[in-house]
Amino acid sequence: ASTWANVPQGPPAILGITEAFNADSFNQKINLGVGAYRDDKGKPHLLPSVQKAEKLIFDSRLFKEYAGITGIPAFTKAAAVLAYGKDSSALDRLAITQSISGTGALRIGGAFLERHYPGAKKIYIPNPSWANHAAVFKDSGLEVAKYSYYNKDTIGLDFEGLVADIKAAPQGSIFMFHACAHNPTGVDPTPEQWKEIEAAVKAQGHYAFFDMAYQGFASGDIHKDAFAVRYFVEQGHNIALAQSFAKNMGLYGERIGAFSIVCADAAEAKRVDSQIKILVRPLYSNPPIHGARIAEKVLNTPELYDAWLLEVKEMADRIITMRALLKDNLEKLGSKHDWSHITSQIGMFAYTGLTPAEMDQLAEEHSVYATKDGRISVAGITTANVGRLAEAIFKVKG
Ligand code: PLP
Repeated sequence: ASTWANVPQGPPAILGITEAFNADSFNQKINLGVGAYRDDKGKPHLLPSVQKAEKLIFDSRLFKEYAGITGIPAFTKAAAVLAYGKDSSALDRLAITQSISGTGALRIGGAFLERHYPGAKKIYIPNPSWANHAAVFKDSGLEVAKYSYYNKDTIGLDFEGLVADIKAAPQGSIFMFHACAHNPTGVDPTPEQWKEIEAAVKAQGHYAFFDMAYQGFASGDIHKDAFAVRYFVEQGHNIALAQSFAKNMGLYGERIGAFSIVCADAAEAKRVDSQIKILVRPLYSNPPIHGARIAEKVLNTPELYDAWLLEVKEMADRIITMRALLKDNLEKLGSKHDWSHITSQIGMFAYTGLTPAEMDQLAEEHSVYATKDGRISVAGITTANVGRLAEAIFKVKG
């Protein structure tokens, strides 16, 4: 028999949606399964600031030598300033490494916690969370547990449940939070709620690990979206942070991100940095350079940076506008349901509250494709298809 004769078939991934979409011959079909930004024509988007940065890089004919193990310093410095703020006390006591986008940052973080966290090697993630979180942390060697997050009756935050679970977890547990634009629900705590969450985390002596995959992409304002991260640092938490430039710079396939740990002081940061290098070296030696050069150029060139801030805001605003249009259209059709969650949620995804059976009906009868949990990618909505989408939802849900 073949060596691999006993390898079992794994379940199909999220790609099933794209396959079903591609197989549909209806010319007005709608794909709301994709986790990537689309413009109002439904096309992938190349940011002008990114294009200009690439041209500058190309024109300077840089060599393709290896980066160091933790990446290009001009990039990691700029990424840290973007996340923590230019006046943050964290900057002088930060261990930071370039990573293979947000996923790689989470993976390095998981591995670091598994090797060095002094408490239980167990991480609490929200229920629900980005589908890959549990897999990434399990493969890092951590045990994964869930804390309450989403209330399906209100299609909003289960704030009481969340705080109760933080308080019920053993002292010194690791909690992972989505910094902004929670995926898949689009439901974020308010700043006031973050303050209560921080107080509960501190009271229990927990450790906070933030995943910030959408800075700027949620509200359109990079500072507002970093509120929770910066607030925790101000309150004395030496957090860990995963950053991604996939969404906010449209650099999905370049795989550019960063992982950082705020330390007690510079000496501790130096020790932590040495251990991050020991982890990264046998994983992939050193990270790819092109995406880091692009992000670094955009962040460190004042004209490009200013242009980028506007471009991020444009993407966020288009999504916010599509949310409002979808809600308006549903109301105009006479839907009796309360659709206010569509506009109160934030980021690329909206949790519609539709059931798996209703999602099947949307696909089979209306050629509208999205995940069965009722999550739709608002980035896939356009001024041209929002009317038909609202009609389809209205016919299915009333
Ligand atoms: N974290 C969350 C919550 C996400 O939604 C995503 C992407 O969808 C990621 C992390 C990682 O994405 P990437 O590895 O492309 O940066």
